[in-house]
Amino acid sequence: PSPLGPTPKIVIDLERLAQLPKEKAGPLARYAATIQSQRGDYNGKVLSIRQEDLRSLAVIYDKSPAELTEELIEWGVLDAEARRAVEAF
Ligand code: C2E
Ligand code: C2E
Ligand code: C2E
Repeated sequence: PSPLGPTPKIVIDLERLAQLPKEKAGPLARYAATIQSQRGDYNGKVLSIRQEDLRSLAVIYDKSPAELTEELIEWGVLDAEARRAVEAF
């Protein structure tokens, strides 16, 4: 077990996501909307996603999961804690 506690979740800030220009956020916004629809989870300000989904998103953005995570932290869509979730890959 990590001394920093359990692996943090990957939690998308949906309000921040909605503020970003479409060219950047488009694919992620569509992916998040699909997950919301599959769960019937429409009321959240945030959306917890699977680690596996970050891998899929990295392929979509043509980046490594670590690179995509850094970018999403820069955009304010992910918390810096998310780095630890990706290290666990
Ligand atoms: P599924 O993968 O067959 O999961 C069925 C149900 O198991 C989910 O219903 C949920 O209640 C529960 N479940 C599965 N994995 C987890 C988990 O890691 N945490 C929690 N808390 N519950 C889990 P739900 O939420 O209505 O989702 C229905 C279907 O929508 C899922 O069927 C899956 O096919 C898809 N889905 C939902 N959320 C995600 C997601 O974040 N990523 C992906 N790739 N698919 C998702
Ligand atoms: P947490 O995981 O730290 O989530 C804190 C709050 O963030 C949640 O409060 C909820 O308002 C929001 N949140 C996080 N992920 C999502 C999401 O994918 N969709 C939506 N709509 N909101 C999200 P909430 O619901 O009162 O839950 C409090 C705590 O209860 C959670 O803290 C977690 O520890 C536990 N919990 C709730 N639902 C689940 C679940 O499906 N699976 C597990 N393992 N724990 C859950
Ligand atoms: P969580 O619900 O706290 O689940 C934490 C981890 O426990 C998941 O990480 C997954 O590895 C495992 N887990 C929990 N429930 C199930 C399950 O029914 N089947 C399987 N095979 N594994 C399960 P993961 O996948 O990275 O998901 C992170 C978070 O994303 C979950 O935290 C939950 O908040 C959300 N999530 C993922 N899939 C679903 C889903 O299908 N429905 C809902 N409502 N939330 C989901």
